[in-house]
Formats: sequence, C-alpha cells, structure tokens
Amino acid sequence: MSPEFPATPSGSPDSIASAPGSADTDPLISDADALRVAVLSEALPYIQRFAGRRVVVKYGGAAMVRHDLREAVFRDLALLACVGVQPVVVHGGGPEINQWLSRLAIEPRFHEGLRITDDATMEIVEMVLVGRVNKQIVNGLQLVGARAVGLAGCDGGLVRARRFGDGSHGLVGDVAGVDPSVLTPLLEAGYLPVISSVAPDASGQAHNINADTVAGELAAALQAEKLVLLTDTPGILRDRQDPASLIRHLGLAQARELIETGIVAGGMTPKTECCIRALAQGVRAAHIVDGRVPHSLLLEVFTDAGIGTMLSGSPRVSG
Ligand code: ADP
Ligand code: MG
Repeated sequence: MSPEFPATPSGSPDSIASAPGSADTDPLISDADALRVAVLSEALPYIQRFAGRRVVVKYGGAAMVRHDLREAVFRDLALLACVGVQPVVVHGGGPEINQWLSRLAIEPRFHEGLRITDDATMEIVEMVLVGRVNKQIVNGLQLVGARAVGLAGCDGGLVRARRFGDGSHGLVGDVAGVDPSVLTPLLEAGYLPVISSVAPDASGQAHNINADTVAGELAAALQAEKLVLLTDTPGILRDRQDPASLIRHLGLAQARELIETGIVAGGMTPKTECCIRALAQGVRAAHIVDGRVPHSLLLEVFTDAGIGTMLSGSPRVSG
C-alpha cells in the first residue's frame, strides 16, 4: 500500500478537524482531504440530533432568484431529507409576482412596505405563487433527488387566513389557524412539503400572507426543532448599514426590545416577530440566515459555528 493510502486513518476526528493549515498537519492526509473529513465528522452529532426532527425553512430572497444559489438550497434540503431530518419549505413569490403584474399591466401598489392586494392582484398572486413558483421549487427539488410535494394553505385545511390589520391592504392575510395534519403522513413517508403562502379565509377567499409569518406558525404547529429564515442580509444587524454589527444570539426579551427601539424595522419586523411567536410556542431555535451565502442552510444546521442570528429562549444556548 502506498504511503498516501494508509490502512488505518490516523488521528481522531478532533485532531483531523484541527489539521488543515495547522502545525498538527498529518503527512498521511492532504489538507483538502482532512477538511472534507472534518466537515463530515463535525456534522455527525447534528445529524444524530436532528434525525426525525422537523426543520421549517422560509425560502426567499437571492437564494430563490440566483440559479447557483437555488441549486445549492435544493441540494441542502435534499441532503437534510436524506439523513432523516424532516424539512418543510415555505416560500414567497419574490420578483415573479411583479413581473407577471407588469406583463398584465397591473400596477403594483405598496403601503407601509406591504403590497396592497386587490381582487385582480390576488388572482395573479395565487396563479404565480401556487401555479408557478411552487411547482418550480418542487421540480428543482425532484431534480436533485428529493421527493417534494407542493401545497397551498387550502390543501387539507393546512392554513386558514384572516384579514391583515385594519383591512387597508386588501386581500393581505394573517394566519388565523394552522392544521398540520396533512403534513404528518407526508413527512413520515419521506416527502418534502413545499408550501406557498396563500390561504383562504372562512369564506374561501384566498389571501396573500407574508411567508415568514406562515413559516413561523407552521413551525409552532409542527413543534419544529428549528425555524430557518433565509434572507438577503447576514442576519439581524445592530446597524443596518454595517454587516459587521451582526447580532449572533438573541433572547426573546432582547428581540422584543430591538423591535420597540426600531433597530429592527421594515421586512425584518415580521421575521423577528414570527421567530418570537414560534419560540414562545415551543420551537427550540429560530435562525435568520444569509441566503446569499452558498449552502448557508447546511452551515446553519450542521456546523458548530452556525451563521446568522440565532433566537432562542436563552441567549447563550448554541446549536
Ligand atoms: P425577505 O425578502 O427575505 O423577506 P425583507 O426585505 O422583507 O426580506 O426583509 C429584510 C430587510 O429588512 C433587510 O434587507 C433590511 O433592509 C431590513 N432591516 C430592517 N432592520 C434590519 C436590521 N436590524 N438588520 C437587518 N436588516 C434589517
Ligand atoms: Mg419580507
């Protein structure tokens, strides 16, 4: 046997983990191989811990638009499912909705950062989200070997909507209730549910709901281990202009304070609020993660360091 291929690997996973580029470099294994082994080895306790547990992922932002990032997210989700984690995807519509509204000459209108959704707009939102975006995600997941199934809020009575706020946003909804029973047999059979954030109210009228909000309520109803929100910032920043001001860990009280003081604003508000609600209802940890970083989902779930902002009942717990 050549010296490059030792009969037995030397060193514990821990010593291998510290090998690349360090003084402990083992001459029998290249730095690149040591890194590969270290990564796989570091994932083991996480795989063991999360197998059979549910992880709800809000999919959106650049990770939904850029082709390379889309593929990376699909592969991460397929890998999670493959090692026994039960991922559930919730998605918004991103730029697709605006593209179709402009093709059909319907003017997008916004009020306080939220889309005003009249009847004509809602028809397009539903067609684009449920008919097109949802199926593109399902198809992309199938192509990398996951067994994905697309659902909207109406399927099996999964999500019920009510009018958001004072109703001035039209058919924008809030979550009135979640019945996750349709998901249980799918998850147990190894399917990966992909859910679009459109749901009917009590009269059957479809409403457009913020996908973060749907993801948070679903995570709570499923008693998920984790809620992961993929977005286009490194996480919650103390100073929005400074990526270095990332807040890595947050407790519930601190998170509420950031909303009250306006440090968290705009689209980060529903994200932070839904994390708080999910945690208060028993979800173990919620993460706001940069979807522009390739494989950010795997980094968050399967590595010690994690990335982004983690919200948990206690600010110091990691995992
Ligand atoms: P998504 O499309 O992923 O839902 P949003 O645009 O709705 O993303 O929300 C994220 C945005 O929230 C950021 O791009 C940023 O402009 C804004 N934001 C407000 N407060 C903060 C904060 N403290 N840290 C980071 N982003 C913030
Ligand atoms: Mg948003």
